[in-house]
Amino acid sequence: MKCSRCKKLACVALPSHNAGFCPECFPLFFSKQVATAIRREKMFTHDERILVALSGGKDSLGLMLELKLQGYDVTGLHIDLGIPDSSWKARKKVEDFCEKNELNLEVFEMEKWGLPISDVNEFVDRPVCAVCGKMKRHHFNRIAREGGYDALATGHNLDDEVARLFANTLRWDTAFLSDQGPVLPAAEGFVRKVKPLFRLTEFETANYAFLKGIEIHSDPCPYSTGASFTNHKELWGELEYRSPGQKFQFYNGFLQRGKAAFAELEKEIGADLKPCEECGSPTSVGVCSICRIKKSVHQKKTEAGLV
Ligand code: SF4
Ligand code: ZN
Repeated sequence: MKCSRCKKLACVALPSHNAGFCPECFPLFFSKQVATAIRREKMFTHDERILVALSGGKDSLGLMLELKLQGYDVTGLHIDLGIPDSSWKARKKVEDFCEKNELNLEVFEMEKWGLPISDVNEFVDRPVCAVCGKMKRHHFNRIAREGGYDALATGHNLDDEVARLFANTLRWDTAFLSDQGPVLPAAEGFVRKVKPLFRLTEFETANYAFLKGIEIHSDPCPYSTGASFTNHKELWGELEYRSPGQKFQFYNGFLQRGKAAFAELEKEIGADLKPCEECGSPTSVGVCSICRIKKSVHQKKTEAGLV
């Protein structure tokens, strides 16, 4: 196959675009998709300050590099989750990557904050991933808000978005469906959230990271019970294989024709939010769920004589 742009030998075939690219031209295709996403969805401008959530994986590091190359004012934020034998490796990859590429980085340590994920695993009677995900979202938003950033960017790609949309649709979860999309506008206590990689598949982000020589953290988390949405991603892989372009059609069709109806529905249900008495994050009760979890773990550890 020949590169669709320069006619040299292609190394990446993209049936959904009816195209293929060589190692030099593929990053240009990638950049164009990111630029189109930012422009069409009005994600942010060159005058704004963007905080990028960095896990150490291919998506977040690829996004950070691409935004920097496009001249945006970006700062990375890594959350050190405090998972034994795992978190330090992810953190090291992020720190090395930022140093090598001269990128600003903030690191937030869950252990220092008072609740590493190892304690959640031991003392919270709920699936650890559900609580961990909630905590990460909480701190990303809080740090972006307190730091005065204009937007928080995450590395969610098209496969992530399609799998999530599919799961929400199977459950007809109107609250999640009303919020799903590449941009979640700022609201009282919430910073604008953006997903500049939503037009690119996991295959495409992996190729970008590889071609740019990005060293990623890919070890599985010891608490993982199997990646979330794995089954849905496999199903969609099959659909996309049979009919290239299905993923984007499904997601884009929802944005164009489905989302507004769910947003309208949820507007009527919407709860009143006020700042958490402990941490200032928006909540519908006095103290937010994250602060309550932290308190309850602390109490359990005190009772067990561990603090
Ligand atoms: Fe957190 Fe679960 Fe992901 Fe591990 S697998 S980092 S516990 S969400
Ligand atoms: Zn709180």
